[in-house]
Amino acid sequence: MVWFRRDLRVHDHPALVRAVEEFGRVAPLFVVDDRIMGSAERPASNRLWFMRESVAALAAQLEELGLDLTVLRGDPIALVPGFAAEVGARAILVSRDRAPYGRTRDAAVERTAASRGITFLAEPGLLVQEPERVTRIDGGGFTVFSPFRRAWEAVDRRPVLAAPRKIAGARRPTGARGTIEECLGHIAPSADPALLLEPGEPAARRRLDAWSRSPELVAYADGRDRLDQSGTSRLSQDLRWGLVSPVEALQQCAGDDAGRTRFRWEIAWRDFYAHLLWHQPRLVREALRPEFEHVAWRHDERLAEAWRRGRTGYPVIDAAMRQLLATGWMHNRARMLVAGFLTKHLGIDWRVGAAHFMAHLIDGDVASNTGGWQWAASTGADAQPWFRIFNPTLQARRHDPDGDYVRRWVPELAARTDLAGAKVHEPPPGTYLVPIVNHADARRRALDAYREAAARRPGRQDVADVMDA
Ligand code: FAD
Repeated sequence: MVWFRRDLRVHDHPALVRAVEEFGRVAPLFVVDDRIMGSAERPASNRLWFMRESVAALAAQLEELGLDLTVLRGDPIALVPGFAAEVGARAILVSRDRAPYGRTRDAAVERTAASRGITFLAEPGLLVQEPERVTRIDGGGFTVFSPFRRAWEAVDRRPVLAAPRKIAGARRPTGARGTIEECLGHIAPSADPALLLEPGEPAARRRLDAWSRSPELVAYADGRDRLDQSGTSRLSQDLRWGLVSPVEALQQCAGDDAGRTRFRWEIAWRDFYAHLLWHQPRLVREALRPEFEHVAWRHDERLAEAWRRGRTGYPVIDAAMRQLLATGWMHNRARMLVAGFLTKHLGIDWRVGAAHFMAHLIDGDVASNTGGWQWAASTGADAQPWFRIFNPTLQARRHDPDGDYVRRWVPELAARTDLAGAKVHEPPPGTYLVPIVNHADARRRALDAYREAAARRPGRQDVADVMDA
């Protein structure tokens, strides 16, 4: 039995290939787990919509290979071993999930399956390298990216596997079996449907193929930071849901020119954060740097809500936050800016921002999101010191030099003919929302808050950093 989770594909799928080669017949399963549905107040509808459509696409592909995908809804710890027993499976095969919830869930499924005489086999598939293969000399995990990347690049990669051509189905279960439509009903994304990317493995493979041949990949080393251009791959949701494997993405985009090298390094960041969370699952909730667990965050719902809605009075911040609401995605440079703005300028806890991102991002991933937020808040794995505070206006001028990104997402500014080009980044008083904070004051306050926290508990992390290097 192959239990699909965040590996909704048939190409380069080690668990599926092993199931076919070693066991002959296969019963595929997907479980809609209520734990991943998000809370009532934050339903993560963009991500769920994408997942639902991608599961539907997977079902169609499996059908072509000769398999019926069974979809169940409920607690996988009870459902998965029960289904495996019902179809007479000898083994449950999965792509190994390294995130905290997935680990606990899989351990429980493995125990229950074992009690019924069924083996649980976890294969690679979600990451380029498994955490055990990229360690420091003392066996520990890296907390600094550059040495991690060097070690990561030195390890051989597994070969890319072809999709099986035909698969023999296992015995059909006797009970009534749902489809994804029945188990998940209709999901309306909160983003604008016209701006969503097409879900499913075939669409993701087309995106990867187009990206691997594009001039944007060649220019990626510089182009990736331009907010106003489509200079990045837009593959994050495909990697998040495993519609393409990261190993195959790297193989297709292989090369040593500046663009391809940089792209490989960004995929390395994805592994880096996944490994970091594997070594330290507490980081979902706690700062990596213990001294910054005690920053005196401000509890100001009015400021937080202005940030969420894209109404801070800083055009580039507002554009980015509105891009997130409208599309379920945000440019990486913009993510860095808005995360820095929330934590440093508004003095609000990174966890407030991380939760908002998880509620809207289609690519929302606990490891990359937590890693990115802690990086931006200087509480995490960042080689830069905590006193790096982005100036949103200078950043906007650099990465959106003609103001087109701001005009795209802030229509009230696009309508102003007096704010041509980069002028849109500094609207004079009375032409746009009053900024909710003043940059210089906010910067001073942030420095004080971080300095105070650092003084209260001198960092132990710095020692680890030196060891890593
Ligand atoms: P590209 O620039 O084309 O990069 C290629 C791939 O590399 C991406 O698809 C992604 O899988 C990976 N990648 C690139 N940059 C990073 C990075 N900094 N960290 C980890 N992986 C990276 N990415 C997510 O996939 N899910 C998240 O929940 C997420 N939350 C973030 C939160 C913050 C505060 C920050 C600063 C970054 C976050 N990122 C997250 C990383 C990054 O912003 C997105 O992966 C990227 O913007 C996706 O667009 P793309 O596919 O066009 O990226």
